[in-house]
Amino acid sequence: MSRVIAVTGAASGIGAATAGLLRERGDRVIGVDLKDVEVCADLSTPEGRASAVAQVVELAEGRLDGLITCAGLSQAGAAQVSVNFFGTTDLVTGLQPVLAAAPAPRVALVGSIAGTHPNDAAIVAACLAGDEAAGLAAAEVAAGAGRAHEIYGSTKAALTQWLRRTAVTPEFAGAGIPVNAIAPGVVLTPMTAELVSDPEWKAIMDAAVPMPLNGYAEPEVIGNALLWLIAPENSHMAGQMVFVDGGAEALGTTLFAG
Ligand code: NAD
Repeated sequence: MSRVIAVTGAASGIGAATAGLLRERGDRVIGVDLKDVEVCADLSTPEGRASAVAQVVELAEGRLDGLITCAGLSQAGAAQVSVNFFGTTDLVTGLQPVLAAAPAPRVALVGSIAGTHPNDAAIVAACLAGDEAAGLAAAEVAAGAGRAHEIYGSTKAALTQWLRRTAVTPEFAGAGIPVNAIAPGVVLTPMTAELVSDPEWKAIMDAAVPMPLNGYAEPEVIGNALLWLIAPENSHMAGQMVFVDGGAEALGTTLFAG
């Protein structure tokens, strides 16, 4: 049966690959991104996120079978707090009513191996408190202290904790909506293209995210894992961050460890 699935970040990388896999099998995709998709919206602002939710609800025509959130920013800066964390959580909560109306609704997020790396406690706490202004301020402080590289991992660490808390609530588990996530290692997308082509950055990345199993992943690898998370067969998994990272998390290596 064809399902209606919203995919954020659908214009590029993992989101585009996932949207392609869904379309190939006959699902209707509602892509959300800055441009070149069904729903053009800026997930870095509360207004943009509200607009995205309203447009998806309208296009879904009363029933959304799945939501996959791939939109994300890797350039170090405070905007990562808005896009990576609130651009995910506001869509999940905003779309809950239209998901709850579907027969087998599912939500899949995209975290990161970086969520296991050293992070900034103030950013994580502000995100979990739902305080975007405080999160942005904490990110500015981290950047000013020369720790801008911690912002990305902090947003992903916060997402992991939010996932675990949210998945088991009456609104999600109680409403029959499994919410889970995939945490990739290094995936070959426009986000990483410059890093993998620069020998110096590649060496830093390979040390931080060693992938003994098959090396860097193509975006379809993550897409197929996301497809399983939103499949009706996934009936009993709740709040899990599943690492699809070539073994990096199992190795337990941490970024910039001495
Ligand atoms: P990508 O840059 O190819 O795609 C990200 C998409 O998000 C883009 O289409 C971009 O336009 C969209 N986006 C960014 N800011 C937005 C905004 N303000 N409003 C709406 N859309 C916005 O990157 P990707 O590699 O496909 O990353 C997808 C997800 O996977 C991200 O959450 C990223 O953090 C995560 N991830 C990627 C890797 C990797 O190695 N590529 C590893 C771990 C996690």
